[in-house]
Amino acid sequence: MIPEQIEHLGIAVPSIAEALPYYENVLGMTCYKTEEVADQKVKTAFLKVGEVKIELLEPTSPESTIAKFIEKNGGRGGMHHIAYKVSNIEEKLAEVEAKGAALIDKTPRPGADGMTIAFLHPKSTAGVLTEFCEKK
Ligand code: ZN
Repeated sequence: MIPEQIEHLGIAVPSIAEALPYYENVLGMTCYKTEEVADQKVKTAFLKVGEVKIELLEPTSPESTIAKFIEKNGGRGGMHHIAYKVSNIEEKLAEVEAKGAALIDKTPRPGADGMTIAFLHPKSTAGVLTEFCEKK
């Protein structure tokens, strides 16, 4: 399979409000969308660099996997996952699973920004939490 492009980079932050001035004022990027994904207990904010998005993820509950990630990271945010754009996501998941990747999501689910998403486990992806996304 060859992913079509990097769709976005997911970055965990304790607070979107505190992180945005860096992206907007220092780097001069523009946040074009914020969205709460209740399912994943996160608030998201999106910025764009060319065709690639930066997805800021702020936990909305201590139970959120993002909250746990930040806690492990000493209370700071950090690079959380890389997301590849694919087509026929179900087919691509079956293909990488057959080649030894461990799937966190056997079945794709709705994600932020109108995407259908699924995660691969970092134990099988050279240490980087990996997301596939497809615009359905
Ligand atoms: Zn993502």
